[in-house]
Amino acid sequence: MSDEDAIMLFSVNDRRIWQIAASADEKREKVTGPVVTFVRNQNINVTNYCINSCGFCGFSKKEGEAGGYLSSRDEIRNKAALARQRNVTEICTVSGLHPDFDAESYTDIITTLREGAPRVHIHASNPMEVAYAARKSGITTAEVLQQMKEAGLGSLCGTAAEILVDDVRKVICPGKIPTDEWIRIIKEAHTLGIPTTATIMYGHCETVKDRISHLSILRSIQDDTRGFTEFVPLSFVHMNTPLFRKGLARPGATGREDLLMTAVSRLYLDNIDHIQVSWVKTGVKMAQIGLMAGADDLGGTMYEESISKGAGAVNTDYLDPAEMERVALDIGRTLHERDTLYRVV
Ligand code: SF4
Repeated sequence: MSDEDAIMLFSVNDRRIWQIAASADEKREKVTGPVVTFVRNQNINVTNYCINSCGFCGFSKKEGEAGGYLSSRDEIRNKAALARQRNVTEICTVSGLHPDFDAESYTDIITTLREGAPRVHIHASNPMEVAYAARKSGITTAEVLQQMKEAGLGSLCGTAAEILVDDVRKVICPGKIPTDEWIRIIKEAHTLGIPTTATIMYGHCETVKDRISHLSILRSIQDDTRGFTEFVPLSFVHMNTPLFRKGLARPGATGREDLLMTAVSRLYLDNIDHIQVSWVKTGVKMAQIGLMAGADDLGGTMYEESISKGAGAVNTDYLDPAEMERVALDIGRTLHERDTLYRVV
């Protein structure tokens, strides 16, 4: 699919959206079959102190601010042990950029998680954290990734991508790494045998053309490396964010935009097998509609979620697999538990 075709599809605002959704659903059926998958996972955010001030973030705190926290090693280990008791197969951890953190801090977190939950897959950090750790420790990003891998990192989060267009990044997250650095670190991870997810955050101040530039970058990386496990569209949660309060963003994507983001992604990203719906961002009902418009994966059970909640989302903490099964059966599909790398559990 050309960029021009995708721009045209994203702009449809009449009954033809159902044709686009149906095409994406057919494509999904050919690629992944009549199943809906999910992963049993738990989020563990180690700290919300952050030196950055991204405009879309309702999670971060400055040192001394009410509600700030930094978990101790014991707390991290205990939370990991609790996750293991809940039979999770994945622990997901992304945190704020703590002013005192360096590369060793990030590898320590991974080591501690593994102490609490040996054999559980650690899905951690993102290119921004890798760049930050490298800068703080005076080493290369490849060295940080290698150290994380040796500590037990299973896969890297493909977050901090937001929109991979620098003019948009300057508005929504001026302190974050630029597009070319995000691409370089993701490719570095893939080259080192560390798979990553791919994400987009949409529904704020980006244009349709910006979304396609972003998808085009992801498709081209995947052609080179085959390192993306899935694509996760993240609908902007606006309520508690400085970006929305300052009038720099619209109040999130509409239902039409959520539907088309899933459908067009399935059609455009011909080299990424799995398209996830984020029930945390859109709610379970809209997530189910996404599963009928090209998506095959419901993401994680979560157990504990604080990033979307900080931005104002509700009901983000836990989605019971029994409810996931109800959602899947209702659209004639079966629910399968998977691990982080999409192997059946
Ligand atoms: S999005 Fe991440 S880097 Fe940006 S302010 Fe929030 S915690 Fe910090």
